[in-house]
Amino acid sequence: QAIYMNLEDTLLMMPGPVPVAPRVLRAMSKPMINHRSNAFSDIYDDCRQILADVFNTKNDIFVLSGSGTAAMEAAVGCITNPEDRIIALENGKFGERFKNIAKRYGKVEPLAYEWGDSIDLGQLEEKLEEGAKAVTLVHNETSTGILNPAKEVGKLAKEYGALFIMDGVTSLGGDLVKVDEWNVDIALVGSQKCLATPPGLSAVSVSKKAFEAMDEMERMPYYLDLKAYKKSSEKTLRETPYTPAIPLFYALQEALHIIKEEGMEARIKRHCTEAAAVRAAVEAMGIEMLPNLKEHSHYSNTVSAMKAPEGVTGNDIKKDMQARGVVIAGGQDRLSGKIFRIGNMGNVQPKDILLTVAELEIVLKKRGIVSSVGAGIEAASDVLDTL
Ligand code: PLP
Repeated sequence: QAIYMNLEDTLLMMPGPVPVAPRVLRAMSKPMINHRSNAFSDIYDDCRQILADVFNTKNDIFVLSGSGTAAMEAAVGCITNPEDRIIALENGKFGERFKNIAKRYGKVEPLAYEWGDSIDLGQLEEKLEEGAKAVTLVHNETSTGILNPAKEVGKLAKEYGALFIMDGVTSLGGDLVKVDEWNVDIALVGSQKCLATPPGLSAVSVSKKAFEAMDEMERMPYYLDLKAYKKSSEKTLRETPYTPAIPLFYALQEALHIIKEEGMEARIKRHCTEAAAVRAAVEAMGIEMLPNLKEHSHYSNTVSAMKAPEGVTGNDIKKDMQARGVVIAGGQDRLSGKIFRIGNMGNVQPKDILLTVAELEIVLKKRGIVSSVGAGIEAASDVLDTL
């Protein structure tokens, strides 16, 4: 097994962090620059322009030196006064996190489902009828592999005059997101997922309506004050309010150029096809998906969550795979042991999917779950051939 101890030989197939291209790693080793200079401003502007295409928005976009959770907290913290009602949709760990953040700032109205279940738009409408300042939704619930109906939630939120805050941490940059068309007032992404950048940055888009809500705030967060980000980003300054993580901005710029070169349409198609290949493979191995899909919900196109087959835990599978050099994820919190997850975020190639599926099939054969190796690989390969 020692050969796999070399980190460079390990294939990261977890739902973030993801493998980072050598050219992105190289970009990080450039000398530091003054963050109050045209050199930095040009990098920041370039990042914001490409991000606007990824988000499909004309709204302002800012890059925060802080992970996805910082962006979640900025979104909620900048629009929530203590008496405001926030409807927090929860069907997994990150929906729960939004709820917990909202609890710190306002009055939470949770709308919770079993982790892995679909959300119910009828129930959301009933809650909205009672009035709410905002609705929070995790578009792609990484903990369960479900893609929630962001477009429909955005439509309802708009109808009832509530702001729509959407976590696109594991959809933006890999799957289709239309911030403006879906009425998303604040959308956010983390660097270490589909953008294939190292961890540490997040990006947030903010609508005019969300800025207006910020004008009504009794008290704003300090480091995460999005109005401060807006002020600093304007034409004369084009910078961030506080010292940015400069090497990560170098990395983000390079990673966004990779995205631009591939084109979002091709990138989304690749993500969708690769996730479909994983699903086809596990189905051929007799393994069940976790999500319980209802109308308007879909399987995630960036991470697949599978139920652990009878007789093994998700962690057994994860450990066996790790020993063979492929890093996948288990379940989080209440799903620990019950599921295992395979990510296909960022610049994952079809050959990476095939290798992962092959290793999974071998691991399952050694565990006595499948009787032979091949059905999964063939099923995945057939789907990947459609790319
Ligand atoms: N939201 C979603 C959907 C995520 O998958 C994650 C991380 O896995 C987060 C939020 C939190 O992001 P971070 O760990 O970068 O703070």
